[in-house]
Amino acid sequence: MKAFRIVAPMTVELQEMDIPRIEADEVLVKVAVTGICTTDVELYDGSMPYYKQGMSKMPLTAGHEWSGYVVEKGNRAGNIAIGDLVTGDVSIGCGACLSCLKGSYHLCDNRTELGVIRYDGSMAEYVKTKGRHIYKVPAGVSPEEAALIEPLATVLYATRQTHINPGDNVVVFGDGPIGLLHAQLANVCGAASVVVVARKEVHRDKIENMWGLKLINSKSEDLEQRLHDFFGGKADIVFEDTGNPDAFESALNAIAPGGKICALSITGKPRIDVDLDYIATRDITLIGTLASPNSFVPALRMLAAGKIDARGCITHRYRFEETPEALDFAKNSSGMERIKIVILNEEEKRR
Ligand SMILES: [Zn+2]
Ligand SMILES: [Zn+2]
Repeated sequence: MKAFRIVAPMTVELQEMDIPRIEADEVLVKVAVTGICTTDVELYDGSMPYYKQGMSKMPLTAGHEWSGYVVEKGNRAGNIAIGDLVTGDVSIGCGACLSCLKGSYHLCDNRTELGVIRYDGSMAEYVKTKGRHIYKVPAGVSPEEAALIEPLATVLYATRQTHINPGDNVVVFGDGPIGLLHAQLANVCGAASVVVVARKEVHRDKIENMWGLKLINSKSEDLEQRLHDFFGGKADIVFEDTGNPDAFESALNAIAPGGKICALSITGKPRIDVDLDYIATRDITLIGTLASPNSFVPALRMLAAGKIDARGCITHRYRFEETPEALDFAKNSSGMERIKIVILNEEEKRR
């Protein structure tokens, strides 16, 4: 099979590889669509902290946001059928340790991450994974939309961790795919009002008119004043989805006393300054969340029910052969109107 391998920083090679052999509890999937994530860009340009920590290693086939069709399954791989359109977890636990047995397979010490840590991903013709980490895509959800399930599941998990309440005012820092999916999700989870804070204007029309949310441009507008205009005060829940350590202080300042802040981006910095007294004297809860455990099924339900506009987040489509160009574009297009870039394999093509 053909696979695009990251062999050195900023170097992707098209290599001919063996089609992965599956074990009894695994499935082989013919990849339909792969979404490109900031993690992929960091794996590509070499800035991913996991390299320094020895968790990720080149050469690597990236790609952890994917959909595809089951072409082969082991006899202990579960109920999935040949031909099913499926998507699957990033975090692949050992299945035997205490974290795994508690269902927290994303915290497994021996975990791999598909397309990230010691496990080849979907920027190839085929990908294999464990039957227990695979999910059938419901009717009505396209292969493209299904490739966005991983980021949607990530924000769904984070949202559940905050126990958002009906009537909460929510602020989401960041207007990338994660931020925009997150803001849409918070809106349908009972938030009274959802504000996206971003440093650009290009998504204003989508944010306000397509999704019924609000936008504050933190470069040109006074954040505190605008929040006051919208909420009459500060937010009950703030999601920090930028990964920019400089945004954290603004995010902290946007929380009302008694509120919660959820950090779900990895900044890549060893530590950032946090005013602990500010947090303590205001009863603020700080929540960290990693990945998307046990969240694919509810995320797929949200898509199938039409609650989330994933299609509106796809702004650019590339063919499989154009994977290097897609990665280059992903690296060089932040600040532009790009939201999610997808790579369409052979039978999907552009539509
Ligand atoms: Zn991702
Ligand atoms: Zn484990």
